[in-house]
Amino acid sequence: MDVDVAESDHTGTVLRFRPLVLRAVELAGTARRRGDHPFGAVLLDPHGEVLAEGLNGVVTTGDLRAHAELEALENARRAGRSGQVAGGIMIASGEPCPMCTAGLVWAGLSQIVFAAATPNFVPYLPDGPRFRLRCADVVAASTAEIVVSGPVDGVDALAPFRPGH
Ligand SMILES: [Zn+2]
Repeated sequence: MDVDVAESDHTGTVLRFRPLVLRAVELAGTARRRGDHPFGAVLLDPHGEVLAEGLNGVVTTGDLRAHAELEALENARRAGRSGQVAGGIMIASGEPCPMCTAGLVWAGLSQIVFAAATPNFVPYLPDGPRFRLRCADVVAASTAEIVVSGPVDGVDALAPFRPGH
C-alpha cells in the first residue's frame, strides 16, 4: 500500500487504512482471548508497508508498558527495523493512551489512526487511573506534527471488549 500522507484527510485515511484497522481490531481480539486487555496495533513504515504488529501484553507479561502500540514499536526494533519507523504510521484498535502517544512522538511517527475512541472503550476496562488527556491533546502539547484520525466509522471496534468475543 502506498500512502500519500500529506493528501490524507480523515475520510481518505479511513478508506485507505480500513483493512489495517480491521487487522488491529482482530489483534485486539487475540489479546483478549489470551487474557490481556483487548488492544492491537499495526505499525507502518512511511510508505504504508507493515513494519510490525503489537498486542497488549500487560496481564500475561506483567509489564505495565506492554501496550499494543509500544509492543509494535518494540517488535519493529527487535526485527532490526527501527530505522524505518520515523515518518511511519500507527494504526491502533483503540485510541492511544498518553504513555503510548508520547512514545509515538518520540518515535517520530507522522500519523496515528485509531478505531475506537477512549470514552467508548473505557467503560469496558477494569478500574484504574484514567487520563483526561486524549491522544490529540498529547500530540498538540508536543512540537511534533502528527496527523491524528479516529474513531473510524463502520468498524465494530468495541467487539473485542464484549464478553464472549
Ligand atoms: Zn497505551
